[in-house]
Amino acid sequence: MKTFSKKPAQHESRASIPCPVCGGVSFVPRWSVGKSHWVACRQCKLLMQNPQPVAEDILERYDDEYFHYEKENEENFLNLMKLGLRDIGFDELVSTSEENRSFLDIGCATGRLSASLKDQGWRAEGVEVCRAAAEFGTRNFGVPIFPGTLEEAGFSDNSFQFVHNSHVIEHINRPDEFMAEIYRVLKPGGYYICATPNSHGLQALLFQEKWRSAIPDHLFLFSLHTLPLLAKKSGFHIIRKKTWGGLGKGCAPDWLKKLVDSMVKPLVWGDVMIYLFQKPHSYEGENPQPD
Ligand SMILES: [Zn+2]
Repeated sequence: MKTFSKKPAQHESRASIPCPVCGGVSFVPRWSVGKSHWVACRQCKLLMQNPQPVAEDILERYDDEYFHYEKENEENFLNLMKLGLRDIGFDELVSTSEENRSFLDIGCATGRLSASLKDQGWRAEGVEVCRAAAEFGTRNFGVPIFPGTLEEAGFSDNSFQFVHNSHVIEHINRPDEFMAEIYRVLKPGGYYICATPNSHGLQALLFQEKWRSAIPDHLFLFSLHTLPLLAKKSGFHIIRKKTWGGLGKGCAPDWLKKLVDSMVKPLVWGDVMIYLFQKPHSYEGENPQPD
């Protein structure tokens, strides 16, 4: 089954754009789902919708229907985000950042993750383009959630020790500008944790355009190659990565699913990837740990 996605509205405008990772303007057609067409950049292989709906039309998709979907699933999504954070080593990073407990969750929906950190004494905030979700979270959980985009929020330079986004970057028209803005608002030495579908994962390879993440809301489908490339371009160091999720439920007999699920993690073939990036403390020259 595919992930939740809005049906593109009739009036949406589309525009062709250069590849935000490498600037390439030559593409190869890959997948088509209804009116959404993904192409691969010839230079860096980034999978992206091109032409793609323009940002102002995309933002309209995150309406009340989206809010109810997020609201219904908030417990489940919170648990998945906590598992992802544990997997990428968040707890160990926190123990070395005692004085710096500040956290920004972008695309935070109702702000449950930030609320759970706030309860532990953190300065935790959120950004959410779905106004109904932002208002609900601020009202019910007391988390400051900016209703709009990260750029519109206009945080000061060096504001947060941690910036997190889970299943967000693939929805954003300009992921290069988005990452540059994250870099700016992070403190030197701060961490950026990013979870997104893995287009080099087993499910993507098996199912191609029937992959559950090939949905109209996913403007970009990053891979273990293209996401770190974009992060490096933005100035980040790549610290580590994890993937998870083998075969979907009901795709195969239980014994086979168990076997495959146990293999995808060491092989980094998981359906979702999570990366830990770090803003350098100061100018440190080349990335000491290329990945
Ligand atoms: Zn490219």
